[in-house]
Amino acid sequence: MKFRDLVETYKKIESTTKRLEMTAHLVELLKKTPPEIIDKVVYLLQGKIYPDFVNIELGVAEKLAIKAISISSGFSEKEIEKEIRETGDIGEATEKLMKKKKQRSFFREELTVKSAYDGFVRIAKAQGKDSQDVKIKTLCELLQNGDPEEDKYIIRTLLGRLRLGIADMTILDALAIAFATKEDRPAIERAYNVYSDLGGIAKKLCEGSLEGLKEIKIQVGVPIKAMLAERAKSIEEMLEHIRDPVVEYKYDGIRLQVHIGKEISLFSRRLENLTEQFPDVVNALKKVFDKEVIVEGECVALNRETGEMLPFQAISHRRGRKYEVEETAKEFPVALFLFDCLYAEGEDMTQKPLSERRKKLEELLKPDQEIRASHMIRSKDKDEIESFFLKAIEDGCEGIVAKASESEYKAGARGWSWIKYKRDYKSEMIDTVDLVVVGGFAGQGRRAGTYGALLLACYNDEEDTFETVCKVGTGFDDETLAKMPEIFERVDKDNNKNKKPARVESAIEPDYWFDPKIVMEVLGAEITLSPVHTCARDIIRKGSGLAIRFPRFTGRWRKDKSAEEATTTKEIIELYKKQLKKVEE
Ligand code: AMP
Repeated sequence: MKFRDLVETYKKIESTTKRLEMTAHLVELLKKTPPEIIDKVVYLLQGKIYPDFVNIELGVAEKLAIKAISISSGFSEKEIEKEIRETGDIGEATEKLMKKKKQRSFFREELTVKSAYDGFVRIAKAQGKDSQDVKIKTLCELLQNGDPEEDKYIIRTLLGRLRLGIADMTILDALAIAFATKEDRPAIERAYNVYSDLGGIAKKLCEGSLEGLKEIKIQVGVPIKAMLAERAKSIEEMLEHIRDPVVEYKYDGIRLQVHIGKEISLFSRRLENLTEQFPDVVNALKKVFDKEVIVEGECVALNRETGEMLPFQAISHRRGRKYEVEETAKEFPVALFLFDCLYAEGEDMTQKPLSERRKKLEELLKPDQEIRASHMIRSKDKDEIESFFLKAIEDGCEGIVAKASESEYKAGARGWSWIKYKRDYKSEMIDTVDLVVVGGFAGQGRRAGTYGALLLACYNDEEDTFETVCKVGTGFDDETLAKMPEIFERVDKDNNKNKKPARVESAIEPDYWFDPKIVMEVLGAEITLSPVHTCARDIIRKGSGLAIRFPRFTGRWRKDKSAEEATTTKEIIELYKKQLKKVEE
């Protein structure tokens, strides 16, 4: 098939905005495409050479393209840059200049779809020392063999600027019309949801029609479209849809679909390949799975010192990174919380109930710090779910997800078998608070010999007690960390027996108890209800206290304040109420 045939379709598609017309042009092209290259044609229609999940980019920089255009056309790089400025598009500029070409080449081999595609692949795969030369040489060959109009599309494709705007769904429509019937469209889409390679689907359909489609199965290495959740406004609403749900933490990170076969691949929710950005996760996965599986979970950044979960912003540092991956991995360690198993040991699990998928996941997963199964409970009790929700928020999650335990994994679908319930307010705590240190947690790694986190309390001036309100492990510089054992050893000695001091009210058991003496200034993201902390317990809600979320030490020890002068429980309640009002406004 000639490259020209493809270019004619590009032109027709560019000249319409109507989806039906676009589909008709695609059908016409697909029908006359030989089966051996139909996958390539499908990729090229979307300006790609592989599906997105394959980690090979076309990757030609504008500078390199200009060099090749200059060699091929005889115009200087300056002249080409000027033309680009005038036309506003490097493709147009190429066409114009190639038409006015200064040297004529005598030897021109007409481009076919295959030869153009092979050239693109050679360019994309060129690596190492000579890669620039290989890229330029191959591009020059393509430009020489193409006519000026073909050259326009070659350049646009290589620079990722084809932008014909053909959606995956339009291609699926065209495939159904070309090789099956309109009624088969849902079956084709279903196949695409579990096997997200449009070129591969086209090939199967073209070669074997609907029979070919039946052969499409989940395959390790080809991502499955993610199942999505509906949103509920309350726990009651959740329970209206699912009477007896499994309820999980809704982690605040990046969704990863993990494919473990001969190699390990990680895919995002949008099916991009993220494998190279998470080498630490890949290594950890090697240790915990020894079978062929596809599992899914949420990857969350952790505080390096305390192991506590951090909000999404922290893991976003890891995404899209090409350089200094290892360094960033050290600075922002992560944990992967797995919540589903889609394929295991040769078996498609997606049509099995969640309860079975979860069982399989737990069976295959060897316990590990970095790879864990998501936190979950099974409950139909509103109050129990509410406490679980509060605990999730306090632990740094976004909320909870309720799931019907009998439900299948519906790839690519949003439905009421998964329901998310998130905190619906977000606000900054404006004031800092002064809290009393009542306990310490032993540090690990870089913090061995000092504390990983401190347990902090506010002062209840009516009861004359200290009520815990958060654990803080962030905001300490190295000097402070080094000094801390000395500061607290003294207090510890006073306490001596490492027993909870009488005036401290706590449901948490730290490694070391301290007499309430030392006051520190802390800034938090917000105040939330907490099933664990004792601050204002039962006052706002029965069974709950208040906690400061994402607390950070400001660097100020309040040596000027005695423990009884710390922020009081009443003040924390006021802050909580003020914050709620702000949300309602
Ligand atoms: P949203 O992005 O608000 O539509 O919420 C859905 C997302 O929550 C999913 O795509 C996952 O990335 C994330 N998530 C976190 N924890 C879970 C969980 N336990 N089950 C399912 N999805 C989860």
